[in-house]
Amino acid sequence: MRVVMKFGGTSVGSADAIRQVAQIVAESRHDHEVVVVVSAMNAPDLRTTDTLIAAAKAAAEGAGDATALAVPRLLDLHMRAAAELASPDECAALEPELRAMLDYLSDLSRSIAVLGELTPRALDLFSGLGERINARLIAAALRGAGLDAVAVDATGLIVTDDRYGNASPLMESTRERSRQRLLPLLERGTVPVVTGFIGATQTGVPTTLGRGGSDYSCAILGSALDADAVWFWKEVDGVLTANPKVVPEARTMPRLSYGEMGEMAYYGANVLHPKTVQPLVQRRIPISIRNTFNPSHPGTVISSEPGNGTAKAVTAIKEVSLITVGGPGMLGLAGVAARIFAAVARAKSNILLISQASSEQSVCLVVPRSEGAAAVFELRNELAGDFSAHDVEHIEVLEHVVIVAVVGSGMRGTPGIAGRVFGAMGEAGINIIAIAQGSTENNISLVVADSDGDEAVRVIHRSFALSIPAPIIR
Ligand code: ASP
Ligand code: MG
Repeated sequence: MRVVMKFGGTSVGSADAIRQVAQIVAESRHDHEVVVVVSAMNAPDLRTTDTLIAAAKAAAEGAGDATALAVPRLLDLHMRAAAELASPDECAALEPELRAMLDYLSDLSRSIAVLGELTPRALDLFSGLGERINARLIAAALRGAGLDAVAVDATGLIVTDDRYGNASPLMESTRERSRQRLLPLLERGTVPVVTGFIGATQTGVPTTLGRGGSDYSCAILGSALDADAVWFWKEVDGVLTANPKVVPEARTMPRLSYGEMGEMAYYGANVLHPKTVQPLVQRRIPISIRNTFNPSHPGTVISSEPGNGTAKAVTAIKEVSLITVGGPGMLGLAGVAARIFAAVARAKSNILLISQASSEQSVCLVVPRSEGAAAVFELRNELAGDFSAHDVEHIEVLEHVVIVAVVGSGMRGTPGIAGRVFGAMGEAGINIIAIAQGSTENNISLVVADSDGDEAVRVIHRSFALSIPAPIIR
């Protein structure tokens, strides 16, 4: 099997963590072809990418010595880990290499300080350096563990457009270059250790894929290399049925479909963003989320198969506002919904939930709380004429609400799910303010008061017995 696996910043955050990574790679290498993708090192007291970005910004504000503190700290962090994990010869070769890369940043920051301007293009040179130094460290550590490994900069693999700071891959060229460079390594039994987060334009100018972009790099390479599986090594056992801080008995779900994962994207940091895994979903490549620090746990497998169960997980989206636009004249007023959504779009506000009852007397929508005021401002402008005609009579905002979403593709076509959700809420005395279910039926969303949010999640989790694994139906 060909496996592309990614280790996040915390999974490579210390010498001990990297030792664990080396063991995982060595074991996987027994049975599989392995490509490793790494983030920048996130040590408890030194987050590499943040540190690099802060230095670049300080330079832009005129600090010619912006990297004076960061460079020795970063060099020390990586070389101390190297001393524990790689041979003295390796360390002697690694030190000047990392030093040269970091010195280049110091030169760059002096130029930025003189110019007094930091372009997104220059910022990408800074922010992507953490992955470049870390790939070299991890490759040395793997060699220290007896593996044949080599660091590879993704600037030579992932071809992107030139939206610096948030570039998108050009998949065809990426496929060609990655295969050309990596397949011969795999054939030889070498483990390529590829930098996450970075790529380069057609003409070779370095770019980054957006913060947290190493997941995206891993998915892009998994797709380009036609991997049989892609494993994301994180610091959790997989995707949980609910936030364990709210529901202590929350459990890891063994299987999820791509669609279910997409529904859960808001759920928290541990779920992969749908855009990130799009290259894998397109090719139906199964994804695993596994725990670097508990590698014998099978984690969660995400694939085109939905697995068992109806409702699978309960999520909550906090810090949102519910906006209701209502009035007697909205009945049969064609185009009013389009104008409402256009106004919210002008406010650059992202709509999370929509609901309109068929009486058409009101439309409600939920937006992030921070965007609520701007959305209402645009709505009032847009609907001013309708107000004077009394077609629209109110625009109301409820600020202290949360969205609670029940997710599971097995809910589709299964009667009684909504009844169970609402029954449970009724028994617990929780008032539901608004409801939405799309016709895909794999998500039922409720809007409840802030103060009821956690209890609503617990009640639904309990009513579907989500802490007990669904029986396996074959
Ligand atoms: N190091 C980059 C960041 O912190 C990318 C990543 O970790 O995925 O955003
Ligand atoms: Mg990260």
